[in-house]
Amino acid sequence: MPDIIEVKNLTKCFGHFTAVNCINFNIKQGEILGFLGPNGAGKTTTIKMINGLLKKSSGEILVKDLDADTHRKELKKIMGYMSQKFSLYPLLNSLENIEFFGGISGLPGKIIKEKQTLIRETVDPTVLKLKSADIPPGIRQKIALFVCLMTDPEIILLDEPTSGVDPEVRRNFWSEIYTLKQQGKTILVSTHNLDEVEYADRLLIIHKGNLIVEGEPETLLKLHRKESVEELFKDAILKYEEDASGGQGALLKNRPLDPYKTSDKA
Ligand code: ADP
Ligand code: MG
Repeated sequence: MPDIIEVKNLTKCFGHFTAVNCINFNIKQGEILGFLGPNGAGKTTTIKMINGLLKKSSGEILVKDLDADTHRKELKKIMGYMSQKFSLYPLLNSLENIEFFGGISGLPGKIIKEKQTLIRETVDPTVLKLKSADIPPGIRQKIALFVCLMTDPEIILLDEPTSGVDPEVRRNFWSEIYTLKQQGKTILVSTHNLDEVEYADRLLIIHKGNLIVEGEPETLLKLHRKESVEELFKDAILKYEEDASGGQGALLKNRPLDPYKTSDKA
């Protein structure tokens, strides 16, 4: 599959602090890319640069071979984004949120009405009356995903969509994400829950703004002789911390982890 997004030497500095440090990766058309990293690793910052909410410090982002900065307006139409914090306006109920986000996305009134009808059919009327801040997290995430998908985007960026929801809701959420993939969508999902990446076609692990692992889960586990993504994740971070030179972590270079070596420089 061709690359639909190419990220080249992407960097973001906040003052003297480098939140994203010269990272390179691609997203292939039609894949689910799992974007893993501990809190503060740089996931949200990266996603916000891809969808244009945050200005990059340097580097390049191409979406369908178009420079994301110069073609922001047209690219906005094909990208859906579910933010980690502000996925729904907290003081509005679900129908009002649909109207609000539909409006700012430029959806015609008729379509917005159709979407409201659709949500009425799937969500309990008592929940529909609640301000989104008061909706139980599991249902709120479902509605937030619905709102994100209203424009039928080709590329879907989901920033920690499953944080704070219980395992069953998480499973349902991933099965919905898998359905979207079957419809041909390209999906990036960030998470710090390591147990939920079984659906991802490829993984990226980011740590302290550096991309330290990239690859297909099965291939990575085999290559690094790991039993689980969790083990791979922990070792990659340990390896990064041990690597005195820092920068791009050793796992990216596709070298198996050597348990007898304490430093890459040795
Ligand atoms: P993640 O989403 O992986 O938890 P973030 O991308 O939110 O991580 O943050 C990466 C780092 O950048 C963190 O150390 C965070 O505190 C810092 N950061 C994020 N936004 C800002 C900002 N606007 N100003 C200063 N530092 C920021
Ligand atoms: Mg985040």
